[in-house]
Amino acid sequence: MAFNIDQIRSDFPILNQKVNGKPLIYFDNAATTQKPLPVIQRLTDYYLKENSNVHRGVHHLSQVATEIYENARNYVAEYIHAEESDEIVFTRGTTESINLLSRALVPWIEANDEILISAMEHHSNLVPWQQLCAERKAKLKIIPLNEDGSLDMNFLEKMLNPQVKLLAITHISNVLGTINPVEEIIRIAHEKGVPVLLDGAQGIAHSPVDVKASGVDFYTFSGHKIYAPMGIGVLYGRKTWLRRLPPYQFGGEMIDQVSFDRTTFNQLPYKYEAGTPNVSGALGLEAALRYVSEIGIDKIINYEEKLLTRATEKLEEIEGMRIIGRAKNKAAVLSFVVNGIHPYDLGTLLDQMGVAVRTGHHCAQPLIDMLGIPGTVRASFALYNTPEEVDVFAEAVKKAVAMLM
Ligand code: PLP
Repeated sequence: MAFNIDQIRSDFPILNQKVNGKPLIYFDNAATTQKPLPVIQRLTDYYLKENSNVHRGVHHLSQVATEIYENARNYVAEYIHAEESDEIVFTRGTTESINLLSRALVPWIEANDEILISAMEHHSNLVPWQQLCAERKAKLKIIPLNEDGSLDMNFLEKMLNPQVKLLAITHISNVLGTINPVEEIIRIAHEKGVPVLLDGAQGIAHSPVDVKASGVDFYTFSGHKIYAPMGIGVLYGRKTWLRRLPPYQFGGEMIDQVSFDRTTFNQLPYKYEAGTPNVSGALGLEAALRYVSEIGIDKIINYEEKLLTRATEKLEEIEGMRIIGRAKNKAAVLSFVVNGIHPYDLGTLLDQMGVAVRTGHHCAQPLIDMLGIPGTVRASFALYNTPEEVDVFAEAVKKAVAMLM
């Protein structure tokens, strides 16, 4: 399918509004993306015609709901190239997926074991491991970054010693935009016998994902970062892992047999899906992935790259501008600070001009502290943004800087 920006924009009616009297320019896509009509329609159809609880009923609607929910799982598996759909666990999002895994790994981590993360992690891929390490008297080790915001691969290799039980790293940084060389990372880690978790919260929307080819052990993502509803996400886990790890929450759905004395647990993936799942969310996620797939992730990446280059070049013309994150391999995230101006003030003025950006530490406080800045302004792009919007944004930044200087 050709990349038709007018068609794409018409799929996102929310974009067609004014904010503070100016046409909305939505550049906060790394926080959450807008939802296209096919996704919204899928949710509506579900509640108009198909709503029922899954896996429990003999009646028609329950069987329909079960079938479409499981079809959504099958499609997610296909989209990320999982070997089997049992390896797809539906969660609330990346944060819950990582918490699930960190809880399931409790018995596996012993005193003085090490868990490696990088200096560019979102709190979601930091705090759960920090808490697990504190609980098990293990050590959380941080892989440093190079000046340009890329991962220090030499350090990474040196840090992979026999004490390391897990390497948990982001696919794409939500602050720096750095795309980590995940295939190489996985290969090096596996050579040392270390399993790898990738935080794909940003990766899913700005990169093809092939869990089979990459050999990654765990991949996590949130639907809302890729045009799907909030409250649905995925933990992909290699079957050999998920089979042997214990459940995370207990209750209905995740059981096989229950007596007052003991309980046996359900098979994968239900062992990890206690309680009523987010069926409509799963259907919305399927619709969103189909939408992306129809346009083509490669075309989307190519288009977003052009937006990123254009925006970077325009911002560089501004005096006092410092782009945060200069890795060669970068996704559609543009963080910056301007000398002498607080990011919050800049963000507030941009909002008055109709431009939605995010300011602050972007849930990566240790990274921001390490950089010695109060935070950044972050513009992040999606498939529905346009070069014209980039131009208006750059002019708005210029104007705001002039006002604040
Ligand atoms: N990891 C990264 C890299 C992110 O960008 C985010 C969200 O911004 C998360 C994890 C957490 O995602 P969620 O809040 O959807 O669980």
